[in-house]
Amino acid sequence: MSPASYLTAPPRVAPIIVAPVVAFWIALAVLLLAVVGGIAYAVVRGIALWRQVKRTGGTLGAESARVADATADIQEHLDRASASGASLGDVYERLDGHGLTIAAGACPSVGIAGLTLGGGLGILGRRYGLTSDQLVGARVVLADGRVVDCDEYREPGLFWALRGAGGGQFGIVTTFVFRTVPAQDLTCFKVGWPYAQAAAAIALWQDWAPDAPDELAASLLVNSTGDLDEPVVTIFGAMLGTKTETADILDHLLVRFGADPVSATIEQMPHRAAKTFLAEHAPGAERSDGTTPVEPPGSSLMFARSEFFRRPLPPDAIAALVDSFADRGGTGHACELDFTPWGGAYNRTSTDETAFVHRNERFLLKHAVVLDAAAATHEREAARDWLARSWSIVHPHGSGGVYPSFPDPDLTDWGRAYHDGNYERLTHVKRQYDPDNLFRFHQSLPPVARSPDLGPQH
Ligand SMILES: Cc1cc2nc3c(=O)[nH]c(=O)nc-3n(C[C@H](O)[C@H](O)[C@H](O)COP(=O)(O)OP(=O)(O)OC[C@H]3O[C@@H](n4cnc5c(N)ncnc54)[C@H](O)[C@@H]3O)c2cc1C
Repeated sequence: MSPASYLTAPPRVAPIIVAPVVAFWIALAVLLLAVVGGIAYAVVRGIALWRQVKRTGGTLGAESARVADATADIQEHLDRASASGASLGDVYERLDGHGLTIAAGACPSVGIAGLTLGGGLGILGRRYGLTSDQLVGARVVLADGRVVDCDEYREPGLFWALRGAGGGQFGIVTTFVFRTVPAQDLTCFKVGWPYAQAAAAIALWQDWAPDAPDELAASLLVNSTGDLDEPVVTIFGAMLGTKTETADILDHLLVRFGADPVSATIEQMPHRAAKTFLAEHAPGAERSDGTTPVEPPGSSLMFARSEFFRRPLPPDAIAALVDSFADRGGTGHACELDFTPWGGAYNRTSTDETAFVHRNERFLLKHAVVLDAAAATHEREAARDWLARSWSIVHPHGSGGVYPSFPDPDLTDWGRAYHDGNYERLTHVKRQYDPDNLFRFHQSLPPVARSPDLGPQH
């Protein structure tokens, strides 16, 4: 790929290129071995190598591939980036030095690859869309060992599929090129109520947050954590605006709500500091004393289920949801209901413009429970029972859509849930790029031949 060929983005925006160079050669070598030897090879292996490179700072035979060497040469628009398995935090940090960012999530340790390929929701999403909506090009190592560059004009079918359904399905993406946006100040807020207000807060939030200005991303969370006696209800998020503008909008909400919050924080801060605040002070992430525990990797276990909603939940469903949360006895140390507002730019792309189909939704609700990794079997079962109960209570009111980046192994019709009307086209793309189903896992797309009657595929 000629670096210049990726520089077709509108002049206001600049591309960042994240190219895991060493990991790319590893992936290519392993793929070639797999193909030559006829060994069924799953992308999981490639990802494991990626992760190893990431963990070791790129010492998998090449010191030079250190994550810290990730370069985003924004000013000169050069293809010089070489980040091995870049995390979202790496990308944010590099871009921030140039006063730029991308619309993406808040958790810095999440991989840019998985996040982008499954969609990518985040604080700027209602303003700019999904992370995958910002993707302008990608380089992919295919199942047959070929390396292809794809964008709107080259391999457009693959490029379409990568944006929302690309995680481990069609090949290993070694380069992502994104549109960037200015890293402006954000005003972060966190307003808490006692659990007794949970039902009223949910009812109010669902009529307000999805219709709020695009600049506002206000989630509602209900959390129980080990060191808190009673669950708390929090409206948490950030606004692309000043403290005064944000306070004005929140004041209106509080007046409508009528119940006094037990805690309230609102603070305007530079973009990077806001991202840190959002990652470290999310309800459930910090202890009641305001500190954020640093847990060693693998020390906890999370079960989660989620669904999109196109209409507000009726009062009886909210009441049952809140009752079920209160009655979660024995489910472990942390349970969460996480309502994320949709609408805005998320819904301004049509359902078939990219593979990400969830474009007519109002909000996403995730039910999650976190346990100690050493939890006994009966504790795990209790956790999963609560999860199934909580999800089932609201499911009759859901759209049936599930965010692909929150995979749910218990879904029966996962193809429809993740991809709905785009499912068939995705199976044809799969057939075109991975006919032998080399990249496969539980819930991966099957390769299906396209009917000749349907004409050429783009
Ligand atoms: C703590 C936490 C916070 C999160 N916050 C957010 C958030 O704010 N917003 C949001 O949208 N999501 C969020 N997520 C979900 C996250 O987007 C998904 O878990 C995502 O899959 C993570 O990507 P990864 O590369 O880290 O994971 P992995 O498990 O490595 O990969 C996920 C999938 O992508 C595939 N994959 C990975 N790399 C490549 C590649 N280079 N080429 C092809 N396929 C690849 C893997 O095979 C796998 O199928 C969060 C998850 C966690 C655990």
